[in-house]
Amino acid sequence: MDVEKEIGQIITDLELPPRFTFTLLLQNVKKFVGKEIFVASWHFPPQITGACLHGNEGIYIFYADGTPIAHQQLIIIHEITHIVRADKGEGLNGEEERTVIEAIKKTNAKYSEAAKNVLLRRMTRSTDEGQVDQLAVGLMQRLIPERQGTEATLEKMDLD
Ligand SMILES: [Zn+2]
Repeated sequence: MDVEKEIGQIITDLELPPRFTFTLLLQNVKKFVGKEIFVASWHFPPQITGACLHGNEGIYIFYADGTPIAHQQLIIIHEITHIVRADKGEGLNGEEERTVIEAIKKTNAKYSEAAKNVLLRRMTRSTDEGQVDQLAVGLMQRLIPERQGTEATLEKMDLD
């Protein structure tokens, strides 16, 4: 894999300038997929740091709670890389999506057993996680720091 070339392609697909803020990245991913992107923290088992679920209403990105902000960004960018590369898995059915939406609207979302079951059922591992990580790191290096910080961006995006 030519990392630089693939990163260039992702930047082109997302209609991003060569350097961009995290906020702009999230905005353009929404435009790219044509649906809402929900980002929320989750209390994962220790070996999982992030996950992404595809529904009809939106795409749901989860990052492990308790991770430092830079790591949260990297996890989210990793999931975004999967989205742009169309690593989708099966996607949620209507009932599963309602369960996930319900859970992230509540403050105890990350502890919802029903949503956890959906997550564990629908989470897929791509065969090229190492490559996705390389691309995510490359994208991360193109980020422009934001005055308001990622925390504020994520807070605005969190439903809870
Ligand atoms: Zn992955």
